[in-house]
Amino acid sequence: MPIDPTLAYDHSNIFARILRGEIPAKKVYEDDFALAFHDIAPQAPVHVLVIPKGAYVSWDDFSAHAPAEEIAGFIRAVGHVAREQGLVAPGYRLLANVGMDGGQEVPHLHVHLFGGKPLGRMIAA
Ligand code: AMP
Repeated sequence: MPIDPTLAYDHSNIFARILRGEIPAKKVYEDDFALAFHDIAPQAPVHVLVIPKGAYVSWDDFSAHAPAEEIAGFIRAVGHVAREQGLVAPGYRLLANVGMDGGQEVPHLHVHLFGGKPLGRMIAA
């Protein structure tokens, strides 16, 4: 069920719980600003989620309210993970769903990294 990204941050959301170590995740990268782990229901041969360590509901919340250092750190982490996963030469796709029409289900900002095969059309017809 898509979420309303204008609501206050819910500290019990599943990615907050992964950040606190309360539930497991298949981690691929972690630094001061970001955590990356495999999506539990992959939609491509490589499907990694990168999340900021700060409590931000969505891309909208993050881009409006995060300090510049956190934004830079997060963006660098996304690029680093893509390189580390060997996605740059073949190519890959980034996706951040926001709110109802975006189909966002988890109310903590996450960037999807897809790769490992030609990904086809950007949006299904
Ligand atoms: P979105 O629709 O953009 O909010 O995407 C949420 C993503 O989180 C989906 O691709 C889910 O498969 C993924 N997901 C949900 N719970 C977990 C979890 N515990 N570990 C890893 N990925 C998850």
